[in-house]
Amino acid sequence: MDDYSEPICAECESGGALLCCDGVCNRSFHTECLGEEPEDDGEPWLCFDCAHEVHRCFACKHYAATADLVQCAEVNCRKMFHRTVECAGKPLVEGERFVCPLHKCKKCNAASGVEADIVRCFRCPTAYCRDCCPLDVHTLEDSIFICIHHVQVRAACVPPGPHPPPSKHHPTQPKPNPNPTRARARALLQR
Ligand SMILES: [Zn+2]
Ligand SMILES: [Zn+2]
Ligand SMILES: [Zn+2]
Ligand SMILES: [Zn+2]
Ligand SMILES: [Zn+2]
Ligand SMILES: [Zn+2]
Repeated sequence: MDDYSEPICAECESGGALLCCDGVCNRSFHTECLGEEPEDDGEPWLCFDCAHEVHRCFACKHYAATADLVQCAEVNCRKMFHRTVECAGKPLVEGERFVCPLHKCKKCNAASGVEADIVRCFRCPTAYCRDCCPLDVHTLEDSIFICIHHVQVRAACVPPGPHPPPSKHHPTQPKPNPNPTRARARALLQR
C-alpha cells in the first residue's frame, strides 16, 4: 500500500485490509467489495475504471473517458473532473497545474498546507479546515467525512456502473379509487 491511496474502501466507505489500485485513481477496495477476487500474481492490479480508462467525475459522478477528464495534480488526491467550471470548480487554464477544490476550505478559503489541516468529503468536492467544518458531517475517518446531504440521500445519489441508467422515476402508483363504494356497486352490476 502506498501512502497516497485512500484509507477507506471506495465501495463501502469503511477501513480495514484494503487492496489499492495500481492505476491512476488512488482508490482502495476490500476484495470482498470488488465482487471478484483479483489474482495474487504480483502483477500491478488495476480497478475496473483504470483498466478500462474510464472514470467517474468526482463532482457529477458520471463516467467519462479518462482523456476527457482533468485530474487533480495533488499526489494524495488525483481525483478526476470534467473540464467544465461546474465540475472542476474553476475554469481550467491550459498548461496550468490543476488542483481540485478538496485542498481549500470552502468557507474561509484557507489552503491545505499540512494535509491534516483540511478535512474533506469522500463523495463530493467539499472540504473545510478543521475550524470551519460543520458539526453535522458524518466522519468516516480522521480527515474524511461525508456531507450530511449524502447521508440523507444515501445510496440514492450515485448512478451505478460505467453506463448510468437514466434517472429512476418512481413507478406511478395507481391512484386509489376516490369512490370505492360506487366502483364496487358497478362491479356488482356487471355480474
Ligand atoms: Zn469495502
Ligand atoms: Zn483505479
Ligand atoms: Zn462532471
Ligand atoms: Zn484534489
Ligand atoms: Zn476554514
Ligand atoms: Zn459531500
